[in-house]
Amino acid sequence: MIPPFTYDQLPGRVVFGAGSLAHLPEEVARLGAERALVLSTPEQVTVAQDVARHLGARSAGVFAKAVMHVPIEAAREARAEAQRLKADCAVAVGGGSTTGLGKAVALDSGLPIIAVPTTYAGSEMTPIYGLTEGGLKKTGRDSRVLPRAVIYDPTLTLSLPATLSATSGMNAIAHCVEALYAVDANPIVSMWAAEGIRALAAALPAIVAKPDDLAARTDALYGAWLAGASLGAVSMALHHKLCHTLGGTFNLPHAETHTIVLPHATAYNSIAAPAAMASIAHAIGAADAARGLHDLAQRLGAPTSLRALGLQESDLDRAAEIASSAPYPNPRPIDRAAIRQLLQNAWVGSPPSV
Ligand code: NAD
Repeated sequence: MIPPFTYDQLPGRVVFGAGSLAHLPEEVARLGAERALVLSTPEQVTVAQDVARHLGARSAGVFAKAVMHVPIEAAREARAEAQRLKADCAVAVGGGSTTGLGKAVALDSGLPIIAVPTTYAGSEMTPIYGLTEGGLKKTGRDSRVLPRAVIYDPTLTLSLPATLSATSGMNAIAHCVEALYAVDANPIVSMWAAEGIRALAAALPAIVAKPDDLAARTDALYGAWLAGASLGAVSMALHHKLCHTLGGTFNLPHAETHTIVLPHATAYNSIAAPAAMASIAHAIGAADAARGLHDLAQRLGAPTSLRALGLQESDLDRAAEIASSAPYPNPRPIDRAAIRQLLQNAWVGSPPSV
């Protein structure tokens, strides 16, 4: 029987498909905007310049200084540039770092944002923003930062290297996994999450084998959309708390950390969330959810140990302490000793102990 639930619908518009970037000028016009500032990282400046050219008279210029974790200085500079160029909307072309910069601009200025994601991080579907000031990353939720429209054009993901595609895809799967056992899970979001895992688990090995496989890229981006929508709709749990700790305090890279921790966090919750585990296992075609995720990461050639990311074994006690304090709601109660063991397993890179 379906249990009682509350479902909160986020607004948003999605234009999906190979070549859909061609609709960008219409999408800008649809917002009633006339001057779009195009945002990107320095690495993707050429893509941003192409997008600006494509916008023609509707382009106000390019700001290509997005970096990881949205430093407040970059956000301030982007806002000043938007003002100077009299931009009336921003187009964020890139991964979570660039979308994050767009959100920081929107938070302060109220400028509408169009996101054109080129990784599988999923930030474009959430009202969650992050800003780093004085070495501390603060996150919050605000409906102003939710992109008004998202253009998913898989041709823009063809250049994402296989290794980054694998870890970014596992990052997306992590959103789906935690949505399935979220404290506020509901059957609608669970449908997206299960379908997201299925699409990503099938597409990622094909992408790693052949990064320019447009069909696989299309399926992965569809899965990433569902994963981002799941992340934006329900609460995340232990896995995200662990990754926020490892990223925030120990500066470990975002997608790789998610990839390594996910099988272990899933194993930790396996007894407490049997229906979610069955759904995850079914979606990846494995007998067991945690082992299946570990095997998938291995098949993708993704990193499987925190040690390989440069974390010191002597940091594990502190990481366990931080991750166990002010925990996010989680199906299995947080036990500090068990979390320490989980981190040990993830550090060594052993298969998850179910
Ligand atoms: P990223 O945006 O930092 O991108 C990593 C690198 O890959 C960058 O140099 C980028 O320019 C490059 N790149 C991106 N797409 C490419 C492509 N198609 N081809 C070639 N190079 C490409 O990485 P990410 O994993 O997408 O985002 C991580 C950040 O997003 C983290 O800071 C994380 O906290 C944030 N995030 C936020 C939310 C949210 O809801 N607020 C959700 C997910 C992630």
